[in-house]
Amino acid sequence: MQGLAQQYRALLGELLPEIERILLEEEPILGASLEGFEQDFAAYVGAKEAVGVGSGTDALVLALRGCGIGAGHAVVTVAHTFVATITAIMMAGATPILVEPDPHTMNVAEAAIAAAITPRTRAVIAVHLYGRSAPIAAIAELCRQRNLVLLEDCAQAHGACGADGRRVGAFGHVGCFSFHPSKNLGAFGDGGIITTSDTELARRLRCLRNLGKVTKYDVAEPAPNSKLDTLQAALLRGEAAPPRPVECRSPPTRRALLASLAARRRPVLPATSPPPEHVHHQYVVRTARRDALRTHLKERGINAGIHYPIPPHLQRVGRALGFKRGDFPLSETLASTVLSLPISPELTAEQVDDVSHAIIDFFRA
Ligand SMILES: *Cc1c(COP(=O)(O)O)cnc(C)c1O
Repeated sequence: MQGLAQQYRALLGELLPEIERILLEEEPILGASLEGFEQDFAAYVGAKEAVGVGSGTDALVLALRGCGIGAGHAVVTVAHTFVATITAIMMAGATPILVEPDPHTMNVAEAAIAAAITPRTRAVIAVHLYGRSAPIAAIAELCRQRNLVLLEDCAQAHGACGADGRRVGAFGHVGCFSFHPSKNLGAFGDGGIITTSDTELARRLRCLRNLGKVTKYDVAEPAPNSKLDTLQAALLRGEAAPPRPVECRSPPTRRALLASLAARRRPVLPATSPPPEHVHHQYVVRTARRDALRTHLKERGINAGIHYPIPPHLQRVGRALGFKRGDFPLSETLASTVLSLPISPELTAEQVDDVSHAIIDFFRA
């Protein structure tokens, strides 16, 4: 993973003594560092509890199950997202109902959700895509009025805030986060966490991540074994520890890139919003000449990603649900026009300039 070694090198002095201490003193599974990190993370988000799990995908599946969502239930979410948002609904046994994103923000909006609600709808998953908060206060209000469970997919948005300043993951019944190494707060491997202020639900989630165990020999229902490792929790705690608050992992370079590209007419730049609302997990521009621009950048040694080239509803798993090309034209257009520019915290000001100039050259030619 690009830049990962560089990030760990900078933290090695802090992390190594801590790793040594954990290996010698703590339990590898459900150890004190996991509990400590869960408390820190819950406090950071502004929720009462946090439950560490094996991945962001497991966070979504277990949160749905924990909230009683399963067979016969419909769950509304957005077509323009990472595939796991949608497959998690299927793994929980429920049916995904997809809506188009807002064309300006590329994020899900409350009106689209409202229009998709039917009597079978039990829950909504709001995705804070690319690090930008969805209009989460309005979505939470809609879910309250319609008596729906609200889950937030915060996998790309650690530290992002809703318009009222509260952090994402504290608006819904649950917030689901990923610590995949590519995310803004990444572990050295897979990991995830579920935030909630419902203490009864937190208790149930602690059973669901641990084979369904209520006590050691009392398993009440089949459940996966999906816990965040003590060691990963300790690494995450070290990475997020002050003076490196989660959302500050990278903004200077991300903001510099934004500034140097602003005022250019092409490509279409992402809708901006002030840093706490948008933590810039990805910096996604749009252009009809996406593939040519990507090649042009690659020839100059610049790697740009695509999030995501094939929408979930057109992958085999989506087609199996009966979805077909044309069902979500905007999401399909986004899939063929979005380009994620490099935005890692390790980028130097010079590299940021190189990216900007390469793009300007491309559109000038
Ligand atoms: C990464 C991601 C997930 C899944 O997280 P994993 O830890 O990779 O399982 C879910 N939803 C979104 C929006 C993501 O970006």
